[in-house]
Amino acid sequence: MIVGKRKPLAEIARMLEPFKKICILGCATCAAVCLSGGEKETAETASLLSLLWQKEGKEGEITTHTLLRQCEYEYIDEFAKALPDCDVFLSLACGVGVQAMTTRLPDKIFLPGLNTTFLGYPLEQGVWAENCLACGNCILHLTMGICPITRCAKSMLNGPCGGSQNGKCEVRQDVDCAWHLIYERLSKMGELARMEAIQPPQDWSASHHGGPRTIVREDLRLETGE
Ligand code: SF4
Ligand code: SF4
Repeated sequence: MIVGKRKPLAEIARMLEPFKKICILGCATCAAVCLSGGEKETAETASLLSLLWQKEGKEGEITTHTLLRQCEYEYIDEFAKALPDCDVFLSLACGVGVQAMTTRLPDKIFLPGLNTTFLGYPLEQGVWAENCLACGNCILHLTMGICPITRCAKSMLNGPCGGSQNGKCEVRQDVDCAWHLIYERLSKMGELARMEAIQPPQDWSASHHGGPRTIVREDLRLETGE
């Protein structure tokens, strides 16, 4: 899932300074699961902002609404049938959601309320770990399900670098060395010989380094008759 964290309230208040009628928009998918922008956090943000406004003597109106997903036109179009009356929307979706809303409803202003940070999953309550950089050419089958592109500080395809100590990365002592983890798993599975295999350079043109990407699935496209 996409993991993000709500921007500090002071930053949000600064963004909203020129506006009086605000609608805070939650997203009930990733942003809700990472406890940053679901219905509950949307209501919480509205209360906090309202308290801040009271303290600062600012007059205005704050409403809330939560879409199931801000990143799909289907849900945006449904939302557009009864748009809240406001000057601006503060979106608590990820950057994908903010851009989908902006593209679909170009006459409206959507401001980002979250700092979208990474693709990952929760390790425990309140702790999320980054584990995929969406490189477009997955090699997890070669690395025992552990991504060295994301989890090795040097993104080494042929590791380890030789700097790890006690299983920790030399760059960040609080982080497990990805290649140590790969070694351990290969060892446990009786596949250590695979450490000897040299991986060729990755095709980075499939990653973001080749510019923004689009996936086209012809088998899923609707016939338009054109
Ligand atoms: S190899 Fe690429 S797609 Fe696979 S987990 Fe790592 S970054 Fe993500
Ligand atoms: S210590 Fe391990 S995780 Fe850190 S840079 Fe070297 S190989 Fe990568």
